[in-house]
Amino acid sequence: MNTSFLDLKNINNRLSSELNQSFNRILDSGLYIRGEESKLFESEFAAYTSCKHCVGVGNGFDALRLILHAYKIGKEDEVIVPSQTFIATWLAVTACDATPVPVDIHPRNSNLLPEQIEHVISNKTRAIIAVHLYGQPADMDAINCIAEEYGLKVIEDAAQAHGATYKGRSCGSLGDAAAFSFYPGKNLGALGDGGAVVTNDEDLATYIREYVNYGSSKKYQHNMLGCNSRLDELQAGFLRVKLSYLNEWTQQRRVIANAYNNALSSKVTPQVEQWADPSWHLYVLSTDSRDKLQAELARKGVQTLIHYPTAPADQNAYKGTVPSLTNSQIHASRCLSLPMGPHLQKKNIDHVIQSLVELGYGE
Ligand SMILES: *Cc1c(COP(=O)(O)O)cnc(C)c1O
Repeated sequence: MNTSFLDLKNINNRLSSELNQSFNRILDSGLYIRGEESKLFESEFAAYTSCKHCVGVGNGFDALRLILHAYKIGKEDEVIVPSQTFIATWLAVTACDATPVPVDIHPRNSNLLPEQIEHVISNKTRAIIAVHLYGQPADMDAINCIAEEYGLKVIEDAAQAHGATYKGRSCGSLGDAAAFSFYPGKNLGALGDGGAVVTNDEDLATYIREYVNYGSSKKYQHNMLGCNSRLDELQAGFLRVKLSYLNEWTQQRRVIANAYNNALSSKVTPQVEQWADPSWHLYVLSTDSRDKLQAELARKGVQTLIHYPTAPADQNAYKGTVPSLTNSQIHASRCLSLPMGPHLQKKNIDHVIQSLVELGYGE
């Protein structure tokens, strides 16, 4: 038997008739950028994240970069980031000419350690980017508390956290602004690139909406030096279809995560804080025989991936320019992501669990 890590074709094919209806409606509308679909998606996604405003943009990286830019964070400024994350979090800071300053991660829940933030705050620090890595909410109350004391902005990188909650509140509504990605493999994925900024800060939303449209809110009138980063009508239409399934899919991910948690040794399972209801974008084990386990699972037909084998500070792009921190290095050498997503059937989940139990990773 084979169990794939993720099967987007399977997930999207099940929605084929709804996605085709959406495609045909947009084709017929003759309006492919900034029409009804993106407007409707923005209001639906704002409601979904319990935020007042949502601005659809080109991708998740742009969403982060645009928030930093709108807060006038740039040259000479520092932004605190977790030492382990997908590199886009760091690159968005670098793209604004600011400097990413890493804080180490918790060895078991993989999120930034709030108690270490104060050690790296300087008079150049402007913001903290809290990443809800793997869909595990970061400790936002602790982060917000420090940010308030030092006058810093808090930006959530919620690219993996659609539907995750922290103390019952939606990820994406917990800081000053949040960035979402709709890259196809995310929990809410388009059939191409897409992203969104969500916020309760009306000025921020208004600024970004204009900035990403060549600095224009009225045709051929340009009030600022803008750029182009828009969520197109087709992607917005597809996302509207998929948004209506997101709660159901998140529920399925939670059932799978529970099955893994119950069956596997607590020495290797991810630690879930009592205030967290994760979106389980990824289910990540931690073991010091990671490479061996990955090879043995592959032999049994279970496909696994590594998120991420190298922390940003150790990538060639950043090597030598920023400190490489201990927990993130250890984590990178131990992490292994199990199959996760609504493509999995009961027999697949049993296959993964049985394989791990046979290899000695059972409870
Ligand atoms: C996917 C991702 C991004 C970037 O999103 P794109 O849409 O691919 O640009 C940023 N941060 C994290 C944590 C991500 O997982």
